[in-house]
Amino acid sequence: MGLHRHTKYETQYINETNIRTAIYMAVVVIALEIWMLIRYVDKRPGLTFMKYFDGWTNYLILLSSAWIILTFSISFKYKESGRKHGRSIIGIISGSLTLLLDILMSIRFLHVRKGMPFKDLIEASKYLVLLTLLIVCYLIYEIFLSHKSLRSTALYGQFLNFLFALICLGFGCETSVYDVTRERQILCFVTMVIYAACLLIWKPYVSIIIISVVFNYFYSDWKPIMKANESPYAQNILEANQINYLTFWIALVMVSISIYQQRLAEAKKDENLVTANARLKKLAVEDELTGLSNIYQFVQDAKEVMLNTPGNKTYLFLNIENFKNYNDQFGYQAGNKFLKKVAGMIKDTFSGCPVARQAYDHFAVLADNDGLMEKLEGLRRQIININTDIHIDLKVGAYTPGSDMSESTILTSHGSGTDNDMKAAGKMVDPRIAIDRARFACSLMKNKYDKHFMAYDRKVDSDFHKRQYIVNNIDHAVENGYIKVFYQPVVWSENHTLCGCEALARWDDPKYGFLSPADFIPVLEEYRQIHKLDKCIWEIVCRDLRNVKASGMQPVPVSLNFSRLDFELMDTVTVLEELVDKYQIGKNDIHVEITESALTDNMGMLRQSMNRLKDDGFSVWLDDFGSGYSSLNVLKDYSFDVLKIDMKFLSSFDSNDKSKVILNMIIELAANLGMYSLTEGVETEEEADFLTKVGCGRLQGYYFGKPMPLNDIIEKIQNGTYIIKRLV
Ligand code: C2E
Ligand code: CA
Ligand code: CA
Repeated sequence: MGLHRHTKYETQYINETNIRTAIYMAVVVIALEIWMLIRYVDKRPGLTFMKYFDGWTNYLILLSSAWIILTFSISFKYKESGRKHGRSIIGIISGSLTLLLDILMSIRFLHVRKGMPFKDLIEASKYLVLLTLLIVCYLIYEIFLSHKSLRSTALYGQFLNFLFALICLGFGCETSVYDVTRERQILCFVTMVIYAACLLIWKPYVSIIIISVVFNYFYSDWKPIMKANESPYAQNILEANQINYLTFWIALVMVSISIYQQRLAEAKKDENLVTANARLKKLAVEDELTGLSNIYQFVQDAKEVMLNTPGNKTYLFLNIENFKNYNDQFGYQAGNKFLKKVAGMIKDTFSGCPVARQAYDHFAVLADNDGLMEKLEGLRRQIININTDIHIDLKVGAYTPGSDMSESTILTSHGSGTDNDMKAAGKMVDPRIAIDRARFACSLMKNKYDKHFMAYDRKVDSDFHKRQYIVNNIDHAVENGYIKVFYQPVVWSENHTLCGCEALARWDDPKYGFLSPADFIPVLEEYRQIHKLDKCIWEIVCRDLRNVKASGMQPVPVSLNFSRLDFELMDTVTVLEELVDKYQIGKNDIHVEITESALTDNMGMLRQSMNRLKDDGFSVWLDDFGSGYSSLNVLKDYSFDVLKIDMKFLSSFDSNDKSKVILNMIIELAANLGMYSLTEGVETEEEADFLTKVGCGRLQGYYFGKPMPLNDIIEKIQNGTYIIKRLV
């Protein structure tokens, strides 16, 4: 029945639909009334103008109200389409002229009905009163309300429509009552009711009231006339029509309710669509958690800023250090709150500049250079102070467009104006790339606890390009044989005979020359490409082993380095098994080195693979023992054949006696757990002697030999520098 409240959207939707309907209806009424005016003159030729004017009163009232509704609706639609908000001069003029006409009609009306009792006068002038109200309301709208929001004026429109409907209904009833008593039409009544109750949409109870009141009005006006009718059939006609009207009443009520429901359903569907759209639109540009822009919007904003004011700007990449711990300690909700707070601080610090959350605890800013360092220091203090129980810090990488250009580019490309060059660079650099560079600068501060700010400069730039080059060229390097294997000897401690080698990767690049693992291993791991390199190394090693065997020499076991990611990125065990099969290598010729840091995460898959490797008959070694925090846990949870003690224990061998104690302990511990030990990084005779004395079985380090190409090690074996002594 429409007793519930509409949502704002539904109200607006229905009101706007009504305003559209009113336009059509007003046009129809205007055409009709003009025709009636002409017809009136046609039927009564030769009267004075005043006589015509008096006779026209009813038609003019309808014509004027239709005209008012038409101008109101058009002005409203015009506003709705967003073309202009404000008073319409045409509207005010047309409203004033109609008011003038209304006043003239009223004066004439009073003049003609001079001496009429007041009560009857009021009854007779009710349409003039309604018209006056309509015109005054319309003028108020045009003069005072036309700049208001559509929503409030739509309600106003509903009110004007209601007045218009009243006028139409009234005339519809009166005309039809007049005609029907002369056994003519009731069409005027029917049309007007259909218009007012069904074309215009009201809440069902309003429609019911409107239809009931009108029917009652019509019937009570017409009944006494019929009753007084002399015809013998008057009573029958009266009864038949009573039933007709009732049926018609029911039909109209049902139609009006059904139309209302239909429109409401449309409004709801439309509303859902609009809200979904608005949400999508928001999501497309906004980071949901913090309300900052997302990175896509940031890129757009940054482009615009750089286009209009390109100089003196720096892209910042902000990283909240240790946020993960905060999350772990205080929970996800608190973490989110924290991020929101940080977002607010960043926004306030760089108000007016594009600011975005890129992901997790990473933010991007395009900041003005003026006072930048002070702002960053202030921001850092604020962030640290959010919670002093846990160590949180801010690290910022910065990229100023143009700062990475080599001097020669700047000079040759644009003469001497560096400032202009910076501006030109600012316009040219894609914000995504700029932020990538700032992030890279930021990443260089990892584990550097005293550094909080790093700018992307020429040196960083060349590193950055080198990294990009490595990632982009790993496939090419593998295919073209740029990847080489160097072998480093591993010896028995008791007599320094050769018990094996470690295969270490080298990248001999035509552009960058000789690259060491420190250059490419971390990059390949970061970009999850490391398995390509490792697979290539393993294949080279297997091939070398086969060739050595084929040439009649005794091979030495080779240890291969496995990255943690290898287990994620490929079926490591199968790959190794296939290689061993393909080159007909003995399983005891391969040792698998898994670095300690690989085992810190909880990884069921890795454990499974390790067990498979052991079941296959490969010897599995723990690399870099002691380099991480979880060494002892790792020993508890996994079992290895050999423990490779990290070379950091030897770095302070001379200066710190404690390292000797620790080495001694680790070797003992390994023996107790049933593992052999190997110490790497042995560089001096004393170190070797000490390790031998405390029972470390195997040694590796520059003292016994640096990593070298296959041919070198073969030569050293052949000339007796190394004597092979295999276990099996
Ligand atoms: P790692 O597995 O601990 O390898 C030992 C590293 O220590 C090698 O460096 C070796 O050259 C160096 N080294 C050996 N003896 C001494 C010594 O007496 N003193 C000093 N100062 N250093 C010594 P390299 O070849 O640069 O390799 C560095 C790291 O790169 C390796 O550490 C390993 O983690 C990784 N890596 C090397 N090759 C591969 C590979 O094929 N795959 C994977 N996943 N990682 C590899
Ligand atoms: Ca290793
Ligand atoms: Ca190692």
